Amino acid sequence: MSRQDEPITPAAISWAAARTIEGHAGERRCPQCRRDGCAQLDWARREQGNVSVVPVSPAGVGP
Ligand SMILES: [Zn+2]
Repeated sequence: MSRQDEPITPAAISWAAARTIEGHAGERRCPQCRRDGCAQLDWARREQGNVSVVPVSPAGVGP
């Protein structure tokens, strides 16, 4: 039995990216981090940027 771990969906990518960014909050680091940056974090920020393009902004939400 060899089935893939999980289907890669936009939601899954978004979740992973959010987790990665959370994991770097407060100058924390992950195993991918290097002195000159973090490929994992770069990827996450790029994915988050893509996600934020989603045109869902219901009026009435926010301060
Ligand atoms: Zn990192």
